Amino acid sequence: MGEASAFAILTEGSRVRVGYLRERIDAASLPANLEIAAVFRLSAKCMEGRCANFESDHCALAARIVEHLEPVVTRIPPCAIRSECRWWREKGSDACIRCPQVITRNTSPTSREIAAAGEKAAFKIS
Ligand code: SF4
Repeated sequence: MGEASAFAILTEGSRVRVGYLRERIDAASLPANLEIAAVFRLSAKCMEGRCANFESDHCALAARIVEHLEPVVTRIPPCAIRSECRWWREKGSDACIRCPQVITRNTSPTSREIAAAGEKAAFKIS
């Protein structure tokens, strides 16, 4: 993944959530033997039309997350990538108050999480 950075770390409670890092970490600087997606949320530059989740002029993944997932926090979390985040730009706080429940690898997804991921999701629920 080119120019990827880690911006949040997974935490576990009754459901997995992410905690946001004060500063992003260049993914290339992380240990090579680390299964990065099992530990961190990663961000990368939006590929727009080269991404399966991009429809017309918007991110359909962000739209599905807002449509299918309930908010999990009442205030937007501090986030090191907000100024560049497409979800924030398109969905604002509706995306941010749902974002902490989004993880790359989900071994026991709910029906809502499956609907939010979509058939063409760039991140895959396994
Ligand atoms: S949706 Fe909000 S909290 Fe999630 S990555 Fe974007 S700016 Fe950060």
